[in-house]
Amino acid sequence: MMKRMMLAAALAAGPAAAADLVIINARIHTMDGRGSAADGGRVVQGLCSENGRITAVGSNARARACIRPGTRVIDAGGRLLLPGLIDSHMHALSGSLAETGIDFAAADTREKLAAALLALKAASPGSGPIQARGWQNHLFGPKGPTAGELDAVFGNRIVLIESVDGHSSWYSTAALKAGGISAATSDPVPGSSFWERDAAGNPTGTAREGADAEMARRLFAPTTAAYAAAFRRWLPRALESGLTGLFDAGMGAPDEASAYQLLAGMEAAGTLPLRYFSSTFNRGEADDPVARLLQLKARYGGRLLRPTAVKLFADGVPEGHTAYLLGNYKDKDGFRGVPMMSDAHLDARITAAEKAGVPVHVHAIGGAAVRQVLDAVARARFAGLNGQRHAIAHMDLVDPADVPRFARLNVVAQTSIQWATRDPSYDNIGRFVGADLMEAAYPVKTLIASGAVQSFGTDWPAAAYLSTWKPLTQIEVAVTRRLPGRRDLPARNPAQALSVAQAVRALTFGSAWQLGVERELGSLEPGKRADLIMLDRDIFRVDPFTIAAGRSLLTVVDGRVVWQAP
Ligand SMILES: [Zn+2]
Repeated sequence: MMKRMMLAAALAAGPAAAADLVIINARIHTMDGRGSAADGGRVVQGLCSENGRITAVGSNARARACIRPGTRVIDAGGRLLLPGLIDSHMHALSGSLAETGIDFAAADTREKLAAALLALKAASPGSGPIQARGWQNHLFGPKGPTAGELDAVFGNRIVLIESVDGHSSWYSTAALKAGGISAATSDPVPGSSFWERDAAGNPTGTAREGADAEMARRLFAPTTAAYAAAFRRWLPRALESGLTGLFDAGMGAPDEASAYQLLAGMEAAGTLPLRYFSSTFNRGEADDPVARLLQLKARYGGRLLRPTAVKLFADGVPEGHTAYLLGNYKDKDGFRGVPMMSDAHLDARITAAEKAGVPVHVHAIGGAAVRQVLDAVARARFAGLNGQRHAIAHMDLVDPADVPRFARLNVVAQTSIQWATRDPSYDNIGRFVGADLMEAAYPVKTLIASGAVQSFGTDWPAAAYLSTWKPLTQIEVAVTRRLPGRRDLPARNPAQALSVAQAVRALTFGSAWQLGVERELGSLEPGKRADLIMLDRDIFRVDPFTIAAGRSLLTVVDGRVVWQAP
């Protein structure tokens, strides 16, 4: 053993490997977990990579020794270099499409919303259907917006605007008519997937949790080409934000088969510049998403596009009263939401996934939904099914008693940490679930201290308030517990604030661990893939309220420069 270690050390110090890419004069945080306590890595100056793999990390002299004729040498000028950041839960295709419209998410007052509606009208000539996304829940009462409010602006046009969280839809009267929605329409799942109604039972214009799914497909179906074009427009911005990989939790847009064909086609053509970890979406009890994921893995599993996990939903969102809580909603007597899956359904999915060698990735926001999933994983573990790192996505309102169970059950804690602020949704949702639950949400520091693996993903374009794909925004909010750049606001539960290193680790090692690729990605070490970013500022040293304003000047995937600031 000793002899082998000495040999390895001699090799490491000996003639350097060749490299096609060498970076010198950088401040590299390797995030390899071998630096001082909790910082996640060593700080070195140089890095070499060849054929997409890191061949050396160390001093400038060490990196210079890799240089051969034809090697591309980049002088970082003292800038910060990190492993590429990986978003552990988002919806890149639907997000890109939403990105091209009017920014309803920024309309956080009634006045701004009125202006956004007028802007949407101006941008939508003709008489065809209009579709947009991003209205803020806090602008409306618990029953959501009404058709009449859209009619006042758009007249007899068919209009659909999705909420910022993606769990509610707002329709005009013409849309309801065209969709055949009336008092006689039954709700798909009363209390869980339903139309908001007046006292007489007439739908008022808001659909919750996909009650409108079939109708929306019929009235508004963007083409695959439209998705592809929007995605291509977005990709450089994603690379500039520091992303080198993402997990798409659902693959629902435009539909599963088209999404896979589009991405596989881009990879084959060399036009997919980042890693796209993908999923299959559970379409109900009669569906078999595990078998479908295995087929997709066999067909598409490549270097960049990688079918990885089965997406399940345990509940909805608190602003739609569809999150499954441990206590009652404050504004609905004796009602705490309903689970979206039975225990038996959940058990069957987890058992099938374990046997197939794939993890499940379960949306759970309310404390009861989080507990239901942990209980199901505990039953699987007790039955000897220990192979997979399942993840609970969002887990906003996790009960303190359940926090230590993530580490014990080897369940990844996946969080959209940029929601952990006192934004307008804090008071809005607080009215439904209670201010104490809101303040205690996102206990990420306690989770990490308990030994759980924490990953961060934005859930873009979904949000309770702040809709973004930008990982540096997540890092800033994880550190400040305030909206980006808003030192003036009170922090939300500042005892749960992380260090910059902990936040970076959630977006590197945490995401890589969740996706089962920590031996390839998540740190800068010889043998790993050369996915890295060079930032315009040292986020470990700058005023934390300026982290989100940063960007990557150089983004490298598999040793190839995929983005360079002009
Ligand atoms: Zn999501």
